[in-house]
Amino acid sequence: MNANELSLRLQVVANYVPKKARLADIGSDHAYLPVALVRNERIQYAIAGEVVQGPYEAARKQVSKNGLEQFIEIRLGDGMEVVFLEDNIEAVTICGMGGVLIRDILERGKRMHRFSGKERLILQPNVGEKQLREWLAAEGYTIIAETILEDHHKIYEVMVAEKLDSTASYTQHELLFGPHLLQERSTVFLKKWQHQLGKLEKVRANLAKSDQQLEDKIIQVEREIQWIKEALDESK
Ligand code: SAM
Repeated sequence: MNANELSLRLQVVANYVPKKARLADIGSDHAYLPVALVRNERIQYAIAGEVVQGPYEAARKQVSKNGLEQFIEIRLGDGMEVVFLEDNIEAVTICGMGGVLIRDILERGKRMHRFSGKERLILQPNVGEKQLREWLAAEGYTIIAETILEDHHKIYEVMVAEKLDSTASYTQHELLFGPHLLQERSTVFLKKWQHQLGKLEKVRANLAKSDQQLEDKIIQVEREIQWIKEALDESK
């Protein structure tokens, strides 16, 4: 992958960035996403935030190689602490991390008053999608779109959230599977959950063999197995 040719995963994310938006890409190793978006004239300005020195330097080099210093600022710092309300950011991308880490970055950003509430959030968690949706729902965000895709034999979910005038509420099923993904039940969605079902059935078998008191855990696993079976069955 390079800034000329994004991976399918980042291309899906890029397609959700509003045209001409001022973007903050948090965790922007190599700044591939902002560089591609500026080169394609999709956006006019981006902050690329990085907390680790190595990826920060890689992002700086990528921006300078492309001569885009005027349009992309690389800032070193933890999560949203590099973004200020005066930056007038309209879209925030946080991609390629665990959902719990993304959630914690959003939560710290909220506590530090780094969100105006008008930004579009475009999030691509590698795992922990449910915990991330729970946070979005609790904070009054509406999940306006979702995509599930397979890229180099890995399955990824991308979710887009905004604060709208009316507040959405989600069922436990929707938080687990994704409200839009559950509606669509695409082939990739079925593949993901078929695989997850196999894993959980093994977990349940191992829990049943254990001598520890694990009733609560068994109940939780069985409930998730049931939900997945329902989600898969409803697609038949
Ligand atoms: N976003 C890119 C993508 O999706 O291809 C890079 C993903 S890379 C796996 C995750 C990056 O996030 C790393 O460069 C890491 O240093 C950075 N990161 C992790 N926690 C962060 C935080 N709290 N604030 C800023 N960057 C962070």
